[in-house]
Amino acid sequence: MKKNIILLFVFASRMLAAQDLEITNWLDNKQCAVVMTFDDWLEGHEKIVVSALIEKKLSATFFVTLQGAQWKRNFFDQMRLAQENGSEIANHTITHPSLTAVSLEKAKVEIDSARKIIMDSVPGAECLTFAYPMGTWNPDIIDLLKREHIGARGVNQFNENGIHYDFASDSVDYFRISTVRVWHIVTLDKIAQWVDYAAKGGGMLTFMMHSVYNDNIAKGWDAMPEEFLTGMLDTLKSRQNKAWVTTFANAIKYHREKKASEIEFLGEKKGVKSYRLISTLNSEIYNQPLTLKMQKPTGAFVIHQGKKKMDYTISEDGLWIFFNVVPGNKEIKITLN
Ligand SMILES: [Zn+2]
Repeated sequence: MKKNIILLFVFASRMLAAQDLEITNWLDNKQCAVVMTFDDWLEGHEKIVVSALIEKKLSATFFVTLQGAQWKRNFFDQMRLAQENGSEIANHTITHPSLTAVSLEKAKVEIDSARKIIMDSVPGAECLTFAYPMGTWNPDIIDLLKREHIGARGVNQFNENGIHYDFASDSVDYFRISTVRVWHIVTLDKIAQWVDYAAKGGGMLTFMMHSVYNDNIAKGWDAMPEEFLTGMLDTLKSRQNKAWVTTFANAIKYHREKKASEIEFLGEKKGVKSYRLISTLNSEIYNQPLTLKMQKPTGAFVIHQGKKKMDYTISEDGLWIFFNVVPGNKEIKITLN
């Protein structure tokens, strides 16, 4: 009996949640996540979008369809370049069928083989996210996706008040993400306005783009001229103080990890406070660093995770510090002088 009590006590003290550290809603304490998604891997993506993103140092998600891949030399070259520069190459099937109109067996092949080809052809591509061809899904399709994907985007339109932080009350909601369709009648002012709505609601905004064209590349579905794309990238850049412009996978990972994580206070010894950011998710997949916030210590201090010294930023009012850590077993140590 006595042993049980001691064990209980040890267990309880190990599970002490940290009072002085918290996980911010989005990376670097940004107010919202904004994700540009380009569907179908069209000519303009290869010849305009990839280099424009690299030039502006922005990331996006390409939901690629692979039909035609076997006929074209260098099909994956620009995808590799995008991936190397922080963008995401993600799954949009092989032949783009409406998955609810084909057999489940066929849907499974479309999902699984596209994922395998992307992972085999684009080094570093995790291929964890999906966009529904034609925007169609049902619970069986979501079950198929849940085996190896962490989220999916449809074509349902957000409404202005629909971009809020609590967009996923259960894990299926990550497979029903809405979007804003950007086509020629959406203006740059509108783009800015959508980011402002997202910042206000604290949620995850996705933009859906298709064809991007210029004098050398023909217009396709939902066409947008190259100048509009450039303007859109500049608009997002100018709002990076409040918007985390990232990939679909990173935003989903962050949101899921934050929900599944807790900061444990392990104790304080000789001016060193120890913590651990524990998560119930598989850390091999959910490897997106989370931002922790704490009151700025009055004296000097150093932060480590494991042996690594961590950088931090200080809030404008000088009261808070922010630093990024990956969930897992590596202890976080804050040394106060
Ligand atoms: Zn598509």
